[in-house]
Amino acid sequence: MENIEDTYFETKCVHSGIKDYEYGPVVPPIYQTSTFKFKSAAHGAALFAGEEKGYIYTRMGNPTIEAMEDSVAELEGGHKALGCGSGMAAVHTVFAALTQTGDNVICCRAAYGPTTTLLNSIMKRYGVETTFVDASNIEEVQNAVNGRTRVIYIETPGNPTLSIADIEGIAAIAHKNGTMLVVDNTFMSPALQKPFEFGADIVLHSMTKFLNGHADVIGGVVVVKDEETYREFRKVLNQIGGVIDPFNSFLVHRGIKTLALRMERHCESAMKIAEYLESHQAVSNVMFPGLPGHPQYRLARKQQKGPGGLISFKLKGGYRAGQNMMNNVKLFQLAVSLGGVESLIQHPASMTHASMGREARSDAGICEGLVRLSVGIENVNDLIHDLERGLEKVDDVREAVMI
Ligand SMILES: *Cc1c(COP(=O)(O)O)cnc(C)c1O
Repeated sequence: MENIEDTYFETKCVHSGIKDYEYGPVVPPIYQTSTFKFKSAAHGAALFAGEEKGYIYTRMGNPTIEAMEDSVAELEGGHKALGCGSGMAAVHTVFAALTQTGDNVICCRAAYGPTTTLLNSIMKRYGVETTFVDASNIEEVQNAVNGRTRVIYIETPGNPTLSIADIEGIAAIAHKNGTMLVVDNTFMSPALQKPFEFGADIVLHSMTKFLNGHADVIGGVVVVKDEETYREFRKVLNQIGGVIDPFNSFLVHRGIKTLALRMERHCESAMKIAEYLESHQAVSNVMFPGLPGHPQYRLARKQQKGPGGLISFKLKGGYRAGQNMMNNVKLFQLAVSLGGVESLIQHPASMTHASMGREARSDAGICEGLVRLSVGIENVNDLIHDLERGLEKVDDVREAVMI
């Protein structure tokens, strides 16, 4: 292996970001330190002046964090990455770095809830206004652009309806109008989708999900394409302070080694489960980009290497059926979040999207009987058997929990 850039994705997952360290460990040591000693006053001065490469203070940089950052940047095909304390810290860093009072942001309506809230509260207070659009409708994106638009922000597939936005088409709109396209790539991971290849300017992730993959870390990352943007973003992150710590970086970097393998299994099992659900009489609609019936199946095939591990489906029995279903599965754990090795189930209408209110949910295509699965890497037959158990009970009146 001459260059890590010349290798296949699976190889990069195992090797990227790892450098030579004292004593020759094959994994990056956990440099659990807040600060770094200078060899002399002159050395300290040179580090601060940027004349010498080294570490000063962990908020500004740390070898364990850097190893993980370099790995994610490599996998996304970006220039450099910035490790953040959570996905939301990554989102905040991006908006703080790119916008100022008077700017307009165009954001997809299917964005992660707290991202929408950040735009509607803190960013709004700072004088940044947001237009929400259905990003799966490219004309709606085009029509929303005005002279003050600074950022177009999308998630694809969107949550929880798994609608797809055309990254290449939206990037063209962004660039024609002198704005930047930011893609939250959390649902796909770089194993399945590389937004830079389709013209995105910034890619971010909640590493809490697929990148770490083991449901034991909260973390985020921003990936940029050039050194100038990197320096600007690093300055902002250093001021805001939303950095990740060395131990969590180590865990994420460890998780990334199996990313390609895990994503393969997530996709394969989710495909089988989606087909099973589609054929079940209690289910009226399955939303999954791998099914030929998905409204943007062709677009998904173009920009995604696989359908992903998330499935949403509508139960004919509505809200009560959703609750009955969740109370009767055993392997699928009733929890929010996604992208871990364990399968999770949740009911957006009573959980993640409860605060939106019924009407706004209906506008966003989130009906009362919608259930979202994050398919883990267990044996798929066990998972289907478990869903069968839940689906048998969807109409059970005794089980009903009314809120
Ligand atoms: C979870 C999530 C976030 C936020 O990440 P945290 O690590 O929970 O702060 C952002 N975007 C998407 C798509 C997510 O799923």
